[in-house]
Order: sequence, then C-alpha cells, then structure tokens
Amino acid sequence: MDKEVFKNRLKKEFPLLYSGLGKGWKEGGMLEFNIGEGWQGLILELSAKLENIIEKLPGEKPYAVQVKEKFAGLRFYMSEGTEEIFEIIHKAEIDSLKICECCGDAGGTHTRTLSYWVKTLCDRCIADWESKDLVLAHGDFIRKNVGEK
Ligand SMILES: [Zn+2]
Repeated sequence: MDKEVFKNRLKKEFPLLYSGLGKGWKEGGMLEFNIGEGWQGLILELSAKLENIIEKLPGEKPYAVQVKEKFAGLRFYMSEGTEEIFEIIHKAEIDSLKICECCGDAGGTHTRTLSYWVKTLCDRCIADWESKDLVLAHGDFIRKNVGEK
C-alpha cells in the first residue's frame, strides 16, 4: 500500500495512537513515519493493540512520535507510555527482524548491508537488490521493471 494511503488508514483506524500524524512538531505532532511496505502488516497489528490500551488509559493519551527503521529493525517511539505499551512495542521491534521490510515475506529473511544501509530483507529481495531491480531512494524501496519478468 502506498505510504500516504497507509498513513491515512492509520490515522482513521487508530486516531488516538496517531493523533500527531500530519501535525507540526510544536503542536504535539509526529516527527517521522518511515518504514517499508513489508512492515505495514506488523504496524497494523501493533497499532490495534496499542490503541486498545490507550483508549482505557485515564488522562492525557500517549501517542506515537516516531516510527522508522534503524539498523535493520523497527523503532517505534511514543510520547510516553506504560510498561505494557513498551513491552508490546519491544516484541514488535524484535519481530521486525524476521520480516522482509520490502515485501513482507517472513521466511528466510536476512539482515544485510545494502550500500550503506543495514536492512532486513528476504532472499528474493536481496537477489533483486543485487541485480539492481530494487533500489533505495530517500529510504524508500523502489522496485524497477515491475511486470517485465
Ligand atoms: Zn522480500
């Protein structure tokens, strides 16, 4: 799913967790949301769990401030949180190391260094990377020659 479409879906389905999405930093906005399409399923699963917990919390609601990839793994930062919230996030961050960030494949995934990037990718995406059918532009995976194979 396109990144902008995905962000709109998150905002609609999890309004508390993503209350900062699209807002400026000074208005309690979200600093960064940048992950590959392969992790969107993982993010949806994680977001549903977090939204559920946040709904039940009294007072000011914690929200996501930064969601990105670093050293081949997911990093998910909250404005604040409870022990339960941080445990669930930690588990998803570990799970991300077994899911191809490009295509979402969960089998035979390896952490590989691509140029200067350390990424978690499956064998097929690594092969595409080596044949230059898959490239990174501003942190986004771009697949070339789609449908020509
Ligand atoms: Zn893959």
